Amino acid sequence: MKIGVIGGGQLGRMMALAGTPLGMDFAFLDPAPDACAQALGEHIRADYGDQDHLRQLADEVDLVTFEFESVPAETVAFLSQFVPVYPSAEALRIARDRWFEKSMFKDLGIPTPDFADIQSQADLDAAVAAIGLPAVMKTRTLGYDGKGQKVLRKAEDVVGAFAELGSVPCILEGFVPFTGEVSLVAVRARDGETRFYPLVHNRHDSGVLALSIASTDHPLQALAEDYVGRVLTKLDYVGVLAFEFFEVDGGLKANEIAPRVHNSGHWTIEGAECSQFENHLRAVAGLPLGSTAKVGESAMLNFLGSVPEVSKVAAIADCHLHHYGKAFKAGRKVGHATIRSKDMATLKARIAEVEALIKA
Ligand code: AMP
Repeated sequence: MKIGVIGGGQLGRMMALAGTPLGMDFAFLDPAPDACAQALGEHIRADYGDQDHLRQLADEVDLVTFEFESVPAETVAFLSQFVPVYPSAEALRIARDRWFEKSMFKDLGIPTPDFADIQSQADLDAAVAAIGLPAVMKTRTLGYDGKGQKVLRKAEDVVGAFAELGSVPCILEGFVPFTGEVSLVAVRARDGETRFYPLVHNRHDSGVLALSIASTDHPLQALAEDYVGRVLTKLDYVGVLAFEFFEVDGGLKANEIAPRVHNSGHWTIEGAECSQFENHLRAVAGLPLGSTAKVGESAMLNFLGSVPEVSKVAAIADCHLHHYGKAFKAGRKVGHATIRSKDMATLKARIAEVEALIKA
């Protein structure tokens, strides 16, 4: 079976690393000459709107999936005429736009921060009057890793904020005084069977994921599964989806969904019986799903900008290096370490060892 992937970054690369043993081949459509997934499959170097190359991809593969959600809607619609596409155009349409996404959560009875659609500075002024400060303003589309957003703390921050974010459609959200951030990675098969990985505690530094720790028997696991299940059913979703929540007042408030494999699920490569990457491929290919159970205690630390010396990471017990083969650049996600230990005390000690390497 040959899988077409829109995007050829590290998520596509890790998909291919998981799918190759299943006998799958891969073709990645990505305009970047140095797309790092090309080491693992065919690279169709073209823009996402290039219909000739999209047609070539559709002709070559059995199905198409995505490694990022900001794919133009026309690209998905075009491909869908010729080849099965998972997740669906509708799932991407909702997930790529923070207004559609939060409106869907509200319709499904999933708690969210207060939010408002912003099309002008006047809309922003009215929304701030209704929601209050502090608040977070985010572009509706194309934002990621804290980009395309601004925290509004005092009245002066509101002045000119619409222009500062590019005068594009935005959303204003009440600032959530959260006690923690968690995410739930789920997988849904073509026949509707759904499985959930354990909730993961996430620490972000400057809006970028730094550390994920998989939990054991988290008291909010069942609630998170209920919320995520509602979204999966509503979208008749196929594949892996990640749902990020704020932990607040002993409950959960929805932040956002990613209709794809997710950075907070990278620990599953060594830490779960079947990784998010393999389970995504099983789901889209119509294969039985694999177990989402955790093996031991697991964590993931991102390497931003550069990867420490391989020999030093390899010298840390329980630790596995994932080097994406990308050029080093300040702030860029260029690799991660997965740690799988027998107990939480050992895991914490290993995390400290990797953190010391990152700081060195
Ligand atoms: P996002 O791109 O929406 O995931 O936001 C990046 C990070 O900004 C989140 O992981 C939070 O740490 C923080 N953040 C986003 N939205 C809010 C909010 N409404 N209240 C408080 N913090 C937020």
